[in-house]
Amino acid sequence: MSPPTTDWRARARALAINGNAFIDGRYVPASSGATFDCVSPIDGRVIAAIASTDAPDVDRAVAAARRAFEAGTWSRQAPRERKRVLLRFAQLIEQHAEELALLETLDMGKPISDSLAVDIPATVRCLTWYAEAIDKLYDEVAPTGPDALALITREPVGVVGAIVPWNFPLIMAAWKIGPALAAGNSFILKPSEKSPLTAIRIAALASEAGIPDGVFNVLPGYGHTAGQALALHMDVDCIGFTGSTRTGKRMLEYSGQSNMKRVWLECGGKSPNIILSDCPDLDRAAEAAAGAIFFNQGEMCSAGSRLIIEERVRDEVLEKVVAAGRRMPPGDPLDPATKLGAIVDDVQLRTVLGYIDSGRSEGAQLLAGGRQVRQETGGCYVEPTVFDGVRPEMTIAREEIFGPVLAAITVRDAEEAVRVGNSVIYGLAAAVWTRDVTRAHRIARALRAGVVYVNCYDADDITTPFGGFKQSGTGRDKSLHAFDKYTELKTTWIDLS
Ligand code: NAD
Repeated sequence: MSPPTTDWRARARALAINGNAFIDGRYVPASSGATFDCVSPIDGRVIAAIASTDAPDVDRAVAAARRAFEAGTWSRQAPRERKRVLLRFAQLIEQHAEELALLETLDMGKPISDSLAVDIPATVRCLTWYAEAIDKLYDEVAPTGPDALALITREPVGVVGAIVPWNFPLIMAAWKIGPALAAGNSFILKPSEKSPLTAIRIAALASEAGIPDGVFNVLPGYGHTAGQALALHMDVDCIGFTGSTRTGKRMLEYSGQSNMKRVWLECGGKSPNIILSDCPDLDRAAEAAAGAIFFNQGEMCSAGSRLIIEERVRDEVLEKVVAAGRRMPPGDPLDPATKLGAIVDDVQLRTVLGYIDSGRSEGAQLLAGGRQVRQETGGCYVEPTVFDGVRPEMTIAREEIFGPVLAAITVRDAEEAVRVGNSVIYGLAAAVWTRDVTRAHRIARALRAGVVYVNCYDADDITTPFGGFKQSGTGRDKSLHAFDKYTELKTTWIDLS
């Protein structure tokens, strides 16, 4: 049971927030002494001063990470030992669930009930799962013939830099921390400047769990300073990036300009949610369609931001989606009853409002929402917004908005739905609603996306890979496949002739 609203507010006021970097097992300010304000989008208040790290801090963190890696205090531990420590780390996060949930909500505006029910449990599950996996993975012997023994083994890649976004700050970090640390790497986490608080806090928990000094570091800071220095560093072996496609492309350039470090990209999306006229349950489909775009204020890489509806069921679906949107008006994120919280900051708020203006001016029909609300709070809030009559060439049908704005596109049949679904530069997620199992399989095959949902949206489990086709990225987070990102394959050929 969550405490009542007043308790969350009181606890927020009483919270002591740490804004320091964590390097080589200690909290430290940026070497320049520079800080930036952490502003809560709930009410526009400054809630902490955050260390603004830059190249010299990156150098220190990378040196510490490398030292630890070479010393083998983590990288050469027996897998069962890393498992023990990572399980303890996950346990400590669970024990601090309420504090971490509060930090996440204050920092980026998501409802406290979501932070508690989704973000923290998913983080714990992820770390636990990778901890449990690591002492159950075997290497391989190649079928070379009798005169040789060829071993195919996995080794940690070395120093991993993780650059993550603000929409699910802890979960996105955990998807990289889990497999990278389990595999024995040293790790440097660069959280988004918009949401650094939980990353900073869990560093102490990592240390308390027994992760050796230098193995887990956190560098809060801006992308163009700390992020760029990390991605350009000659002694970082791998960057695990989650963020926009535009920044993802920069990661590839940084790699080419420096040491050809491995770069894994989890980038943007503009995912099609296709509802066909033989959908088995329109109520469920409409409820899911609303959740697919309004959950987390629409700030979701996999958001079902394009609702592609077959003509015959269009009116009924839209009526239900609009009604579902009305049931989630923006509210105080610290109120446990709130389902839609604040947009992460003023910059993103203006971006979202700009897209709403573009929808109107390009001729889409505004069915619901469209306004900034709760201005009196000093925070950033936008109504759940639905546009009908969207054409595939319109800006709101092509570009990722990252806000609670749905673009509904009407099509004549399934073939047109797939064509429109595949017509953007992204390929992260897609969904199709149909009662015909053959049709479902055919459409799932035809959709160019890393995950295709059939008669559901955003179904999720740590056991399944997540990532994109096309400009949604490279590589996969989650599942055992994520180990591919943070390990090198080695062949050892032993002559037996
Ligand atoms: P962003 O690209 O602006 O920033 C992401 C991270 O990169 C931040 O930590 C930022 O500080 C850093 N960064 C920015 N510029 C940089 C530079 N020049 N050099 C190095 N680092 C730099 O993205 P955002 O606004 O934080 O996040 C939203 C985006 O993330 C959306 O496009 C969303 O779809 C995507 N996302 C993708 C997934 C996925 O799994 N595919 C998951 C969540 C979010």
